[in-house]
Amino acid sequence: MSLENKVALVTGAGRGIGKAIALDLARAGADIVFTNRNPQLSEATRSEVEALGRKCLAFQADVSTPDEVDAMVKTALESLGHIDILVNNAGITRDQLFMRMKTEEWRDVMSVNLDGMFYVTRAVIKAMVKQRFGRIVNLSSVVGHTGNPGQANYSAAKSAVIGFTKSLAKELGSRNITCNAVAPGFIDTDMTRELGEEQRAAILGQIPLGRMGSVEEIAAVVRFLAGDGGSYITGTTIHVNGGMY
Ligand code: NAD
Repeated sequence: MSLENKVALVTGAGRGIGKAIALDLARAGADIVFTNRNPQLSEATRSEVEALGRKCLAFQADVSTPDEVDAMVKTALESLGHIDILVNNAGITRDQLFMRMKTEEWRDVMSVNLDGMFYVTRAVIKAMVKQRFGRIVNLSSVVGHTGNPGQANYSAAKSAVIGFTKSLAKELGSRNITCNAVAPGFIDTDMTRELGEEQRAAILGQIPLGRMGSVEEIAAVVRFLAGDGGSYITGTTIHVNGGMY
């Protein structure tokens, strides 16, 4: 198992893509630290990781609140000694046509999807630099590359993830820390189940593979980047979207 003796911190692992990533990394041998806003969902993820024979620390830290993030990372480092893999996955949508978009809808999306990535990465980076090893994977989105009506806030945040990823790759490569992004297309999760039937049909028509992706198909790519397969890949984005972009 390529990730044995590694510790992975995954944000937003209560459900959906983040949970699949946490479980997949655990299957590959990593111990897991994660955060999520819903205590019941946290409990389910924690027990599934532990059933795989891995250690698991669950937090309810809000990634958009720096004090909560710092406290989580401090506790995790004290308890497990190191964090080798960081997956910045926590994300939200507040869809709205731009003409009607409220400051709050813009700010909420930026706070979680972008500021959160900054706070969590800042909190773990010293430990990674010290140990001369780190694998950072940031969740972008196809709409950060294509744009999408009703998602000016979310698309802007997901594009910004790419600039952040490329800059960190350049800054941290000399410390043996890689930083990459994964840009999912439309994946079957609670986030996309909120779409109406008409929107769903329109989206499927744009996907050459003719279906939405599964959370496991995203997790497999994250595991590849976090493991030996990703050792000479940094600053790039892997698109996992069934060919739609
Ligand atoms: P989801 O809504 O199913 O799950 C999001 C998780 O993040 C939940 O566990 C939630 O508790 C957690 N979370 C939300 N706000 C948080 C906060 N402030 N602090 C800590 N945790 C928080 O979402 P998903 O569909 O699994 O998406 C995961 C990631 O993938 C997101 O970054 C999303 O933007 C991205 N993505 C998803 C799709 C898709 O089709 N589902 C496509 C492209 C990109």
